[in-house]
Formats: sequence, structure tokens, C-alpha cells
Amino acid sequence: MNISTIEACPACEGGGQTQVFTPDKEAKSRFMELSSVKYKGFMDSWLEDLDMQIMKCNGCGHIYHHTQPDFASLSGMYNAGVQLKQVEPKLYPDSNMIKSMYRLYRFTAAKGLPTQLLDYGSGNCLWTTAASVVGFQVTAYEPNIKRIKNIANKNFTIVQQLSELNGNRFDVINLEQVLEHTKDPYELLRGLIPYLKSRSLLRIAVPNIHHHVRNKDIWSMFPFDGAKMHIMSPYEHLHGFTNVSLQLLVKRAGFALDLSLATCRAYPLNTFRTIMGKLIPAISTTECLMRPNSDILGTRP
Ligand SMILES: [Zn+2]
Repeated sequence: MNISTIEACPACEGGGQTQVFTPDKEAKSRFMELSSVKYKGFMDSWLEDLDMQIMKCNGCGHIYHHTQPDFASLSGMYNAGVQLKQVEPKLYPDSNMIKSMYRLYRFTAAKGLPTQLLDYGSGNCLWTTAASVVGFQVTAYEPNIKRIKNIANKNFTIVQQLSELNGNRFDVINLEQVLEHTKDPYELLRGLIPYLKSRSLLRIAVPNIHHHVRNKDIWSMFPFDGAKMHIMSPYEHLHGFTNVSLQLLVKRAGFALDLSLATCRAYPLNTFRTIMGKLIPAISTTECLMRPNSDILGTRP
């Protein structure tokens, strides 16, 4: 396994970090339980390679795993993963997903834009289905074949390799619960540039680590309490974003928060929480709409 050791903050690139978790004997034993229960023992040998330390950026509050496995190892982990509770997996999007995508469709269609949407990291394609149902022409990108092999009756295209998208540009790119899973979220965002039009909209939603840190001692049973996945579960959630760390990351990657009048009108609460959340973390949000800056795009339609 190729191991990455993260020295600077992956969100803001700042240099000051605090170690917020170092595993003791009990934590290592909880890790082995996680490996056994969730991944059929796939991660058993990882304790020797990875230090399982969690760091927090002193500047933006971003939380991340200090050492991270390579892409092939992560893919193996996802493929070995099983459902923790014996509940039927969701097959259809819920009403909130439909409402969210309908709102986005109404917003982009109202501006006279064609409406091709790329659902990047589509997982089990629930958001893809929601986007398709409300009217988007949807392409889903999901590299993990296990997650997409049972999807039937689909009214959209699924690709497993990004190269299959070459030559295509999208009006909307949806990153729903994706950035926290990726080793280098900056590189992922930069990798979207070939698929953007000049006025493309990027929708990003990630878990807000602030809402987990403030309520309880999130490290007491880390990394596994025997029942449910932890918000920083190794090595699925590699990042814990704050409102500030997400904004700084996307800005560094060449995107700007969409604060146009139309967006503020269509998404008043989200806009308010995004701006004021920097001052009042309790109301902060880690869901945002971004536009690419013209300097990362060059000349294109
Ligand atoms: Zn930072």
C-alpha cells in the first residue's frame, strides 16, 4: 500500500495543525472490530501501516486523517464493505432529494440554460434518479462497480471511467457526499475543469463536522462503537469539513460562491447560512452552489 502522510491542511493548505486523536490499545481493538464487522477483515493489516491519527487545522477547523491509504486500497475496502444493519437498502430517492433536485432544475431552467447534469460519485444513484425524475438529462460517474451493478430501469447514463466523459460539458455538476471520501479534494475539483461550461453550476454537499464536534465527545468511541459508522470512519470519511474549510478549498480550486441576486432569491436561507456561518458556526452549512472563475476555464462556451 502506498501511504500518503498529510502535512498541510488539505482544505486551506495552512501549516498549523493540532492532533485531536491518537489511538490507544482500546481504539486499535475497536478498529479491528470495524474491519471485521464492516469489511470482512479487509483492513486488518492496515493498523501496521497507518497511524490512525486525526488532525485538526488550526486555521479553518478542517479535520482529517493524518495518514491515508492509496486509491486501490480504498477501492478494495469499499468493495469488501457490507451493510451494517440488516435493513433493505433504499432503491428510490426520498421526497427531500426530489425537492432539492426540483429546486435546482427550476433554478437552472429558469435561466434559459440547457440542463445536462453530471452526478459525480453517484454511489447507488439515488440523487441521479432524483435529478432524472425532475427533468435533468443526467450522466452518473461512479468508479465503484459494486455500487452500480444492481441499478435497473435507469433513465440515465452511467460511466465508470472519467475518460468516458471526455468532450462532454455539463450545466450542473452535483457532488453529493463525495469530497469527504476523496484523498485529495483539491485535485478532484481541479479535475472537473474540462467538464465545465462558462456558467456551469457546481453543487457541493458534505457532512458538517462542526455539528458533530460541538454536541459530544466524538472521539470517545472512535473509530467504531460496534453498531454504526463514525462521522470520521476510517478510511471512508477522510475529511471533516467546516463551513470555512469548504469555502477555502473551493476558492483555492478556482471556484467562487454564487452570490448572484437570482441565487440569493432562489436559495435565501442557504445563502444566509453560508455567509453568516463563518461568524456563527451553529447556523453554518456545508452545502453550497459555486461557479468556476473565468481564469480556470479559458475560452469556452
Ligand atoms: Zn485549514
